[in-house]
Amino acid sequence: MGATQSMADGHILHVALHATKGEMLQGLIAHEMGHMVLTEEGHPSHDPEIQDRAMSRLAVQGGLRRGFNRLASEAINHAQDIYADDLAIPLVVADRAYPFFAEWIRNAASSPPGPWEDVAAAITIGFALGNLERHGFLRANDPVWREAEDFAARRKVTGLDRIAAFYRDLPMSVTRSQYVDVLAGFLQLVLAEVHAKQK
Ligand SMILES: [Zn+2]
Repeated sequence: MGATQSMADGHILHVALHATKGEMLQGLIAHEMGHMVLTEEGHPSHDPEIQDRAMSRLAVQGGLRRGFNRLASEAINHAQDIYADDLAIPLVVADRAYPFFAEWIRNAASSPPGPWEDVAAAITIGFALGNLERHGFLRANDPVWREAEDFAARRKVTGLDRIAAFYRDLPMSVTRSQYVDVLAGFLQLVLAEVHAKQK
């Protein structure tokens, strides 16, 4: 729906036409502004070199590399989204975040199955759950827990809780080397899900 393109002398904000009419437009702009702020301040989550360092710690078999790289970049982008939403949600999104991300969870949970698709959906669901929990929007008996559990059982994804916990607990204040560790540990978890699915 939106994206930020950062260059040496500034940023370009891209917004999909359909998103300009929705009620989440303000939230989307705040989210993208969040990415700009984090890029400007050199936050480790928005530093491509840190991402490369984390990726280089993983031993990925040749045949899995392309598929894994795609999943890893999705997972890394969602970590950036968590930090952008730390700025955007309290500022303008507030409790509209709940229906927005609950729909993400429902859509991903009912997406077409497959070995790669299941892990991709788990990353999306884990991100949405973790983000909602991080901002205190999930009650203990919230129906989205049930949907996520059903998804994990149906698709045989064992690490969904840990994926959600990663996004929920990402530290705001973190050094570059700490972030390499945090990210590499998470990508290892994603890789373990990929391996389990290939069997
Ligand atoms: Zn984003």
